[in-house]
Amino acid sequence: MNNQRTAWINEEIAALREAGLFNTIRTIESPMGAWVKIDGRNLLNFCANNYLGLANDPRLRKAAQTAIDTYGIGPGAVRSIAGTMSLHIELERRLAEFKRAEACITFQSGFTANLATIPALVGKDDIIFSDELNHASIIDGCRLSRAQVVRYAHNNVDDLRKKINETPQNGRSLIITDGVFSMDGDIAPLDKICDIANEHDILLMVDDAHGEGVVGEGGRGIVDHFGLHGKVDVEVGTLSKAFGVVGGLVAGRQEIIDWLRQRGRPFLFSSAMTVPDVAACLESVNILQSSTDLVEKLWANSNYIKKEMKAYGFDTGVTETPIVPVMLGEAQLAQDFSRRLFEEGVFAMSIGFPTVPQGKARIRVMNSAAHSREDLDKALAIFRKVGKELSVI
Ligand SMILES: *Cc1c(COP(=O)(O)O)cnc(C)c1O
Repeated sequence: MNNQRTAWINEEIAALREAGLFNTIRTIESPMGAWVKIDGRNLLNFCANNYLGLANDPRLRKAAQTAIDTYGIGPGAVRSIAGTMSLHIELERRLAEFKRAEACITFQSGFTANLATIPALVGKDDIIFSDELNHASIIDGCRLSRAQVVRYAHNNVDDLRKKINETPQNGRSLIITDGVFSMDGDIAPLDKICDIANEHDILLMVDDAHGEGVVGEGGRGIVDHFGLHGKVDVEVGTLSKAFGVVGGLVAGRQEIIDWLRQRGRPFLFSSAMTVPDVAACLESVNILQSSTDLVEKLWANSNYIKKEMKAYGFDTGVTETPIVPVMLGEAQLAQDFSRRLFEEGVFAMSIGFPTVPQGKARIRVMNSAAHSREDLDKALAIFRKVGKELSVI
């Protein structure tokens, strides 16, 4: 069908295909785990943010099933109208306790948590100082707030200080940074940023999506990693990565959480997480609080991968976390590399411009506690084979 009103979309899509930028999404025919089934083949999975392997954990499956028998599935409406289920309150209490924060509120996703929080804290007469590599949901939250956004150089506290000093501020100000940056696996210098926020009495918000369940004691996150409890005003997070489910959260001082219940638009105008999501997340918190085994396994796995990759001669960039980028340079090479890995049985995505700068294309290896040592050795052998074949090592 050729509809004139949408002809431009077909042209745009053709242009994407032409430039090798059209994103073909694989269909997974199995649960998310160390291995996934694609096109009937089992592949080693290094794409998911399933850091702790909880996405298909039997304890989470059971918790979700049990909760469905008690509460059903759907939340009915937005919480501020239909009332909120005791299960949601329980999850928020437990998350606050886990993160050693005063209070917590949950959202449908990390994305909506950012869209809720930023416009609730700053408006059109205010200023946001934002790391230039912050996540898309932070960028969109900033736009929704209508505040003036001043970008500072990535992880550069001198530039942040300079930007604060040279920007006239008549209203409120807010500093926002990712905790762990998802493309390079580097960590924000949150302790130093916190000092700057204190010096200038500016609100500080960190998005801990890739830090939760990964950094800090037993995966308590970036604020715990730096021992900054009570000093970072707002911690945004997700329940879709290490927690293995879906949902978003904001942890912080009681008044901020109370305010988000009154003014967080995705809280007020969009329904809550479903019952099985909440029950499964509660079980994730139980697991994380009862043992640090999974977090330790995750780090052991990623340290092993990093060490072996380096020994083979791969460049793994500046990562300090279980996100291991294998730096390749040109986008075409990264795509070819990913395709060859796939043929050999490893599912690992190539990432190119505009997600990362031009000439910095890479394969991003997402490690998980779900992988066995045997899985890692198998994957490493395939990386080595493809690396030699494509003259990368
Ligand atoms: C993944 C991610 C999000 C979005 O989380 P969802 O729960 O998947 O919506 C937000 N912020 C950062 C930094 C992320 O990495």
